[in-house]
Parts: sequence; C-alpha cells; structure tokens
Amino acid sequence: MHNLDLDLVEMSLDVIKYAISRISDTDPQLGFPKKAEELKALVGETITPKGIGGEKAFALFKDVLVKASVPIDHPRHLAFVPASPTRAAVLFDLVTSATSVHGAFWLEGAGCIFAENQAMEWLVSLTGMPAGAFGVFTSGGTEANLSAMVTAREHWRDRDESNTRTRGIVMASNGAHSSIKAMAKVIDADVLLIETESRLEISHLADTLSRMSAGDRNRVFAVIATAGTTNAGIIDDLAGIAAICRSEDIWFHVDAAYGGGALAARSVRHLFNGIERADSVTIDPHKWLFSPYDCGAIIYRDPELAKKAHAQEGSYLDIFSDEGAHGYNPSDYQIQLTRRVRGLPLWFSLAYHGTDRYEKAIERGIELAQIAGRLITEAKHTELVREPSLSCVLFRRKGWQPEDYRAWTYKNHKSGFALVAPTKWRNPEGPETVSRFCFINPDSTEKDIRDILLTMA
Ligand SMILES: *Cc1c(COP(=O)(O)O)cnc(C)c1O
Repeated sequence: MHNLDLDLVEMSLDVIKYAISRISDTDPQLGFPKKAEELKALVGETITPKGIGGEKAFALFKDVLVKASVPIDHPRHLAFVPASPTRAAVLFDLVTSATSVHGAFWLEGAGCIFAENQAMEWLVSLTGMPAGAFGVFTSGGTEANLSAMVTAREHWRDRDESNTRTRGIVMASNGAHSSIKAMAKVIDADVLLIETESRLEISHLADTLSRMSAGDRNRVFAVIATAGTTNAGIIDDLAGIAAICRSEDIWFHVDAAYGGGALAARSVRHLFNGIERADSVTIDPHKWLFSPYDCGAIIYRDPELAKKAHAQEGSYLDIFSDEGAHGYNPSDYQIQLTRRVRGLPLWFSLAYHGTDRYEKAIERGIELAQIAGRLITEAKHTELVREPSLSCVLFRRKGWQPEDYRAWTYKNHKSGFALVAPTKWRNPEGPETVSRFCFINPDSTEKDIRDILLTMA
C-alpha cells in the first residue's frame, strides 16, 4: 500500500494544494444537496476491482461531490450550529492523520495524549471545577453525554445494589438537546422533560421532584442542565440546580456542548456560575472552540468514577498495565476504544494563537448576535422573538407563515447566498415557526446580516 510511486507523489501535491487553497478560502462556494440518483448519474461507479485512479476520483470529488455538500464555515451559514475551525486546527488535522497514532492508550500515544491533555487542562480551568477534575476528547456531544450518563448510572447502581434491577430516570428541561433522548434509549433509561418557558429554574426542579412518587424519585439518577440550549442559547439556573442535586444526592451533568465555548468569554461568564459544581460537563470544541469535526469533550469531577464505568479488559490488552505504559488512557473515560487523537488540532491551534485570541473570537460571536438583534429591531419587516442569548437570535418576519420561511431558506441556499434555517419557538399559543441565526464564525460581518435581512423584505 505504501510504495511511494510517482503517481502518488503527484497526487499528494494535488491533494495538498487543494487542501491549502480550501483552508485559505474564507468565502467557499455554498454547496447544495442533490438526490442520490442525480449523484449516481454524475459520478457513476467509483468502487471497482481495479480502481478508477486517484486523478479521476479526486476530480469527481472537486467537480461534483463537494458541490453537493455544504461548507459549515461559510460566513453566511448561520443555521443549526455552524462551525469555523481555525486554519491552524485544520492543518493540524491533516498532521494528526499523517502521524497515525492510536489515541486510546498512553503506551502508544503518550506524546500526543500529553498534548491533548494540556488543551484539556485549559477546558477544565474554564469550568472552575475543583482540582482532580479531568476529561477526555470524544467524537462529539452525543458521545460525551452518553459516556457521562453511563458513569452516572453505574455510580448510582454501585451505591445501592437494589438499583441494579431498576430502570433509571434522567431529568432535563424541554430545551435539552435531542441527543439526550437518543442517549436515554441507548442506556434504557427514561427521560423526564420539565416544561419551561425559558431556563430551567431551581423551583421547577424542586416542584417536579416533590410531586414524584417515592418509587419514581428513587429512580432519578441524574439531572442534565443545559448551558446554552441549541435552539435559543438559554442557560439553565446552574447554581440552583447544583444545590438541589447536592442535597438530593443526584448526579449533576451540564450539557454545554454548544455554549461551552462562551465560558472563555468574560462578558457572559457569570451566566455559567454553578457549572463548577457539576459532576460532569460536556463541551464540543467542534462547535464554539474552532476545532474541525469531530471533537467533543467530557469532563468529570471524579474521573475515577468514569474509569470504573468505562475501562475495558481483555487478555491482549494486559500489556498496557505494564511498567512504561503507565499514564493516562483516554479509552478509560468514555465508550470508545480505538480513537483518533482528536484533541490534537485544538491543542495546536491553542498553542499557536494563545487563549486570548479564542476569547476574542468567541466574544465576536456574541457581539454579532447583539448587532443582529439591533438590525432586526430597526427593520420594519422583522422583530425579535426574544432577546439574543449567547450567539443565538430568534426573530420573525412579520406576517410570514411557516411555508414562507421554508421557501425563503430554500431560495437563499439554492442561489448560493446564505443558509439560514427556520426553527420553532414555543409560545403560550403553541409552537411558532420563526427564523434563527447562530453565530460562530468571527468572519461573519454586519453586512452579511444586513444583506440576509434584506432578502426578507
Ligand atoms: C450539538 C449538541 C449536542 C450534540 O453534540 P454532537 O457533537 O452533535 O454529538 C448535545 N447537546 C447540545 C446542547 C448540543 O448543542
């Protein structure tokens, strides 16, 4: 496989050239999906016994496939949670692949894991969790939440033998991310969503707990607070929820997959007070910490509990407990065994730029949300649904129906101008379709926002 023939050298130059030009392209073409049949007609069969050759495959990628895919770092991609990996991080993602390191065990990955862990130390310091708290990089927020809940559930069962046969309950607000329900299916737990207008308050949680039967109350093993709901950027009352969880002896998990980056932003840091008392915290560096996909993180107050829940045993793994192999094994703290050292791109980018640059770039996202709020209020045809929170802005085009928002999104996307998707906001009268911006990319401009709003006029 590894014979470096001339073809491969030429191919490598092409690929690296393409990668460099893409990395430096701050306004990439906004791709648009095609149906699988259309792609099949354009691309044909690419996997054949003899191969179609690198040149042809790469040409198909550049000319067809990439154009049917959406670059998440486009400055006018403001839908869902966009992304904006730094050039340093993307470049180092290439290096991470080229280095071919197994990231599960210290024996094989010591140097790279050491670097990952320095980036992790910074993340932990942002939370203010006590000494001893530490974490591991995961494939994303879903895996981070899942790993945390497996740890919480095992801890709950270890404490009381009778829980071994009991189905657990996880509590969260109705603003919690969809992955919470998906995670609960995997671990066969029930999810109790508490209805709230905006943030989950201490009183909501106390009321709900007090109204539960003793049997159900005993099944509650974790509360998941959201620190930055994906839809609206709302941060639950973390300090209040922490206090109840402490007094009721319930695992306190904070899902800051999207919002976690804002822990580095001085202007909003106070909104996260209480996060330092969490038993576990999820942060996605691939959302608001400018890492390429994929990179999530899970941090535990007591990593030993995670190790008890996750460390794998196997006869062929015994070597890893030998002298010289001692050190931090990322596979002990989450559900994945073989793993990419996916924290390396973040490490390199942090080392390159320094954490001040990160703070500035995150503050810019918050500032862009404030600017958007002002422009929306100033324009006659639009209004805010609620004040911007973190970098999320929910707004309506006066007089529009759900189908108007859909048609508008489609038109702007199809023309390659922008991707801004509608969402739903819960009103007393029921869910309303509205529009939503989420700012991550510090290169999005006020003009971008103005131009997008103009297309609604
Ligand atoms: C995005 C998100 C998740 C899921 O994270 P993935 O990285 O997509 O798996 C979980 N929780 C919240 C609050 C999120 O915003």
